[in-house]
Amino acid sequence: MARTAIPGRLTKRAGWWVARLVERREETATACTLVLEVPDWPGHLPGQHVDLRLTAEDGYQAARSYSVSAPADGERIEVTVQRVPDGEVSPYLIEGLSVGDQIEVRGPVGGYFIWRMTEPAPVLLVGGGSGIAPLMAMIRARRAAGSRVPFRLIYSVRSERDIYFADELRRRVRDDQGLDVAYVYTREVPESSPARAHRIAVADLNTHGWPPQLEPTNFVCGPTGFVEAVSDILVALGHEPRRVKTERFGPTGA
Ligand SMILES: Cc1cc2nc3c(=O)[nH]c(=O)nc-3n(C[C@H](O)[C@H](O)[C@H](O)COP(=O)(O)OP(=O)(O)OC[C@H]3O[C@@H](n4cnc5c(N)ncnc54)[C@H](O)[C@@H]3O)c2cc1C
Repeated sequence: MARTAIPGRLTKRAGWWVARLVERREETATACTLVLEVPDWPGHLPGQHVDLRLTAEDGYQAARSYSVSAPADGERIEVTVQRVPDGEVSPYLIEGLSVGDQIEVRGPVGGYFIWRMTEPAPVLLVGGGSGIAPLMAMIRARRAAGSRVPFRLIYSVRSERDIYFADELRRRVRDDQGLDVAYVYTREVPESSPARAHRIAVADLNTHGWPPQLEPTNFVCGPTGFVEAVSDILVALGHEPRRVKTERFGPTGA
């Protein structure tokens, strides 16, 4: 999608809010966080997603789903987008959208893949690649609420360079009591790590997850194959299927 335009007024139209990009932050060489200002945004819960819609000058439209990567903050929402090579929408969001530009937003969407801070159960977050986005919203919401619910994150990435929110995660492990983070590297392992490059396996979930007897809530998010592999292992380890909540970042849109 080469150039986009949003015709009409700065209001909500037929379920779509007109938002403005107010800030962008590089997360990795191929991923970026977009901060959008959405007038009259009703708020959202950690784990929910929004649909973003682009309209070309000839009227052609394309919409894709993106998880919110930060808790609700007035009229501001944040999404973190991974560039899919040859993708229609994600390269435009990363390279074509400038601060001040408008984009349409629909949502918030989703009532199942949500962490509610009133729930006392320990939480395991398992993210693959950009699947960290909604899990980061949960980690940030826990911090913002001063919650002491024990959180563990297992984050699968290709290499250290592919870690989103790397500095913040380091800081949160230091400052947020009861938050542990473990990394699984699938291609290139840092020198400091004793493990070999591998895909997430039973041993990782056994070592860095919670025993099923504690009845944790497990949130698994990432590419479809990753989510299916991890959720199968968690169920095989004895976690009740209803305590394994999944979000698949498969292709979306029409
Ligand atoms: C509920 C939900 C939440 C999501 N949240 C996020 C998010 O927070 N951050 C994020 O970066 N993405 C997220 N996605 C994926 C996102 O919606 C798009 O699918 C993705 O950005 C690709 O869109 P595109 O237009 O660039 O590629 P397309 O033009 O749609 O696809 C181009 C090619 O890439 C393949 N492809 C499409 N999507 C993916 C993918 N996700 N992984 C690998 N190959 C793909 C297609 O099969 C096709 O061959 C989410 C998806 C869902 C369903």
